[in-house]
Amino acid sequence: KDFRNKVKPNWCPGCGDFSVLAAMQRAFASSGLEPEDVAIVSGIGCSGRISGYVNAYGFHGVHGRSLPIAQGLKLANRDLTVIASGGDGDGFAIGMGHTVHAIRRNVDITYIVMDNQIYGLTKGQTSPRSEMGFKTKSTPNGSIEASINPMEMALTVGAGFVAQSVSSDLKGLTHVIEEGINHKGFSLINVYSPCVTYNKINTYDWFKENLVSVNDDPNYDPSDRSMAMQKLMAHNGLVTGIIYQNKERPAYEEMISGFKEEGLAKQDLKITEEQFNKLTTEFA
Ligand code: SF4
Repeated sequence: KDFRNKVKPNWCPGCGDFSVLAAMQRAFASSGLEPEDVAIVSGIGCSGRISGYVNAYGFHGVHGRSLPIAQGLKLANRDLTVIASGGDGDGFAIGMGHTVHAIRRNVDITYIVMDNQIYGLTKGQTSPRSEMGFKTKSTPNGSIEASINPMEMALTVGAGFVAQSVSSDLKGLTHVIEEGINHKGFSLINVYSPCVTYNKINTYDWFKENLVSVNDDPNYDPSDRSMAMQKLMAHNGLVTGIIYQNKERPAYEEMISGFKEEGLAKQDLKITEEQFNKLTTEFA
């Protein structure tokens, strides 16, 4: 199936988000999904435009709020493969509260963060993922705040699927998205997606020199949470691959007493026309 649509992305040439878009489209197709099976909810930022570039249902939400919408969507229609996406500012600053609670709640959705360690859409300010000392217009003398490590954070709050990739590795990125979709529960995938216009430090070459992959370690066990944390701490979080996966933890939906297989959107709610009209009037 072709998940491309006719909308031309207006990202800068070379932006890492192009690869994330291509990997998403490939992962949907290789997972045997049809466009009507997939819904993408995005936040605000350059990367937030991605929901408009895929031949699937798209919802461009408000800043930092893709996760509440995506979780509601999944609970209303469990047949949908629901993807939330956005940038590191969207997910780890204004949306951090939602990120933490979505992780611990564990609704079966996949959250793909395009992490460029800067605010691109607003022309280059320091983000919660910028390293200390990082100089931008908002921190001309260098950032004096510590950077959030999203992978360590996710492990700490009990995530069942934690993976990381980089835009230059289309194959690896497609693979982690496929696995995130297959995972039953909340999946966090952080993608180093370089902003070629405003971040001149964390470039494609920089990642090539600094990233290590769990796939290169024959003794690595992604079901071992302590090993995952140690690996991340040893490499300042610069680790790619499926860092941790807990296949035993049930998704939120499976734990709701009396929850039906089919989502609300597919259930016969058995309300009369009169009740329906009353409800729609109340919410009008
Ligand atoms: Fe990509 Fe940066 Fe351009 Fe935004 S400003 S489209 S993040 S390269």
